[in-house]
Amino acid sequence: MAGTIKAIRGMKDILPPETGRWQLIEQVAREVFDLYGYQEMRLPLLERTELFARSIGADTDIVAKEMYTFADRHGESLTLRPEATAQVVRAVLENRLERGFWVKKYYTIGPMFRYERPQKGRYRQFHQINCEALGTDAPELDAEVIFLLVDILGRLKIEQVRLLINSLGCPECQVDFKARLSLFLAAKEGWCDDCRRRRDTNPLRVLDCKSQRCQELLRPAPMMRDCLCEACAGHYARVLELLGRAGVAFEEQPRLVRGLDYYTRTAFEVAAVGLGSQDAVAGGGRYNGLARDLGGPDLPGLGFAIGEDRLVEILPPDCGQGRQEKIFLAALGTAAREVALALLQELRQQGLAGEMDFDDRSLKAQMSLADRLGATYTVILGDQELAQGQATLRHMATGEQEQVPLPDLAPRLLKR
Ligand SMILES: [Zn+2]
Ligand SMILES: [Zn+2]
Repeated sequence: MAGTIKAIRGMKDILPPETGRWQLIEQVAREVFDLYGYQEMRLPLLERTELFARSIGADTDIVAKEMYTFADRHGESLTLRPEATAQVVRAVLENRLERGFWVKKYYTIGPMFRYERPQKGRYRQFHQINCEALGTDAPELDAEVIFLLVDILGRLKIEQVRLLINSLGCPECQVDFKARLSLFLAAKEGWCDDCRRRRDTNPLRVLDCKSQRCQELLRPAPMMRDCLCEACAGHYARVLELLGRAGVAFEEQPRLVRGLDYYTRTAFEVAAVGLGSQDAVAGGGRYNGLARDLGGPDLPGLGFAIGEDRLVEILPPDCGQGRQEKIFLAALGTAAREVALALLQELRQQGLAGEMDFDDRSLKAQMSLADRLGATYTVILGDQELAQGQATLRHMATGEQEQVPLPDLAPRLLKR
C-alpha cells in the first residue's frame, strides 16, 4: 500500500496558529512601507535564468549551487527566484517605471527558493519582505531605508538586534581592493577548491566562503575600507553620520560583503542576538550598477530583505495570536440551532466573531468546546429558553450566568 505523500525536503507547511504571527509581521511591514511612501509589487515566482546569472554573479554560491533551474517544455531555462532585487529591477526597467524625477519605492512579499542544506531556521522555500528604492545615490536615501527597516523591527518589538554596516565602494575602489586581495590570496595556501577557483575569477567571493578554514585564513586579509576612493569614503561617512544623528545604533563590520556581486557602497545586516550562526534577520545594500548590468539606464538604488521565517522565530511569544473576543453559541435541538445560526450572522455582521456546534452534542460537550475555542461568552439556547423567548448568557472566565431576552442578546454582546 502506498504511503501518504509528504512535502518536499526543506519546504514546510506554515500552519495556524503560527500563521497569525506571519500575518502580524506582514501587516506591520505594510503599514510602515505606506508611511515611507512605498508601494507593493507582486511579481512572478519564475524568471529567465539569465536574469539571476547576470545580476547576482556566476561565481556566487546562489547561482553556482543553489538555484532551482529547469528547462520548460520549450527548452527555455527558467529559475525559481532565489531573491527579489534583480527581479524588481527587471520589472522597473520592463515597465519603464524609472521615468520621472522622483525616487521610486517598491516592496514585495513572498517566497524565494534556494537549494541549500536544510537546517533549523533555513528552508529551501523561504520567505522575504523586500524593500527597493531607486533613483538616487544620495546617502540620505541609505539612511531612510535603514530607518524603515529599524522601524519595522521596532514595531514588532524585536529589540535584541545589532545593525552591522560596511561600504563595498564603487567599481573603481573594487578594482583596487580586488588587486590587493588577489595578492593576499595568491600568497597563501590551504584554500578550499571553490576558493582556489574564485581566486582567479572573482576574489571578492572568497570573502563569503562558508568554510571555517577559509575564514581563518582570511583573518589578516586587506579591508575594503582601506581601498575606498574619496567619493565612496565621503558617502559612507555621511550615511554613518545620519544614522548617528537619528540615534540608530550600528556597528561597523569591515568584513561584511553580502554574497551577491551587484552590491556597491553601503552594505548592511541586522543580526538577532540568540539566533546562532543563522542570526541575520535582514540584510541589504546599494546596487548602483545593477540596472545598467541588466541593460537599463544608470539607475542607482538600494534595498533590503527581511527573512520572515527567522523573524517569526524571534517575535515575542504573545504576538500574532489573533482575535481575543469570541462568542460561542451552544444550541440544543434543531429549532435552537436555527435561532443560533441567525443570531451568529447578526453578530458577525456587526463585527463580533462567533462559532457554534452543528453536531447535536450534549450541553457539557458544547461547553468544553467553547472553552477550547477560547470563547469569552457562551450563549446557551435550549427548548425551555426558546419557549420563554430567552437565552442564557454565560461569562466563561467567571462562570456567571444570566437570562437575557432574545432580542436583547446582540445589542448586549456588542456593548462589551
Ligand atoms: Zn569609490
Ligand atoms: Zn573557501
